[in-house]
Amino acid sequence: MRATLMYRAGDVRVENVRDPTIEQPTDALVRITRACICGSDLWPYKLLEPLEQARPMGHEAIGIVEAVGSDVRTLKRGDFVIMPFAFSDGTCEFCHEGLHTACSHGGFFGTGQVGGAQAEAVRVPFADGTLYVVPGTADEALMPALLSLSDVMGTGHHAAVVARVARGKKAAVIGDGAVGLCGVIAAKRFGAEQIFLLGRHPDRIALAKVFGATDIVSERGDEAIERVRELTGGLGAHSVLECVGYAESMRTALSITRPGGAVGRVGVPQDEAIPAARETFFKNITIAGGPAPTRAYIEELLPDVMEGRILPGRVFDRVIDLDAVPDGYRAMNDRESIKVMVKP
Ligand SMILES: [Zn+2]
Repeated sequence: MRATLMYRAGDVRVENVRDPTIEQPTDALVRITRACICGSDLWPYKLLEPLEQARPMGHEAIGIVEAVGSDVRTLKRGDFVIMPFAFSDGTCEFCHEGLHTACSHGGFFGTGQVGGAQAEAVRVPFADGTLYVVPGTADEALMPALLSLSDVMGTGHHAAVVARVARGKKAAVIGDGAVGLCGVIAAKRFGAEQIFLLGRHPDRIALAKVFGATDIVSERGDEAIERVRELTGGLGAHSVLECVGYAESMRTALSITRPGGAVGRVGVPQDEAIPAARETFFKNITIAGGPAPTRAYIEELLPDVMEGRILPGRVFDRVIDLDAVPDGYRAMNDRESIKVMVKP
């Protein structure tokens, strides 16, 4: 089959690789109908050191079950499924608590442990626990939104959950990438009264407004902090969704959170330390977040997607085929595209 491999920063290739097969009785094979390129794929695209064995890329997909192992109970050939970016057994203590990304037997797609989703097919470990079967028939127009439940919409939702967004509260979202935009959707869905988006790209700002952002803050650093303080009567936001991962964005997040508030971080941290430790301490700020257990959130978000109450599929502004994936990376890295969808 054809699959996407990354050899080093900036070097993405689509090549013929060995077809995936059922290796464990709990595996399923999924033929991918839609995948995408993630903001987190851009970190290795910028930084990856040359590898001896290229890394399979992609961790977000929807598709059709092609085959199942002998121990798979809840899936059958032909089922239409959402594949969360992490695989999980669905049976351990953490899965039962809804934290599937901490599964005792889990892991992540596109890490070498299993293949990537920017491919024609993928082997899915613990298929019963990992895959979510979409009931009935879904309209073609809903595919982008269903794909977003694999990662970005679930991740934006997670940021809002751990930042404790609630009705009547003020929320701020740092980052205007696809996850930040989905964070705006999530904040609106939880009834936030004011939603500030910290971002600078006109196309993304326009979409954020459609999704429910009430105020746009395009300043950076101290000026951005000052602006949010002005907009909140000097108090700061109750909930801040940090959707970037740089030390600077984390510092901004902590500085605009009001005393007693919470920061939900879903941008993969690019630094070891969390800044502003003393300020954070004296403001009694909660810092929460991590990789979103999107598997746990599909149940809750799916009805809103199916009935069109939320439109996270709009973050996809470009559709390409598999051979165009290298150019898709370039387009996202150059901020030409918010999020690229791949139709193998
Ligand atoms: Zn588990």
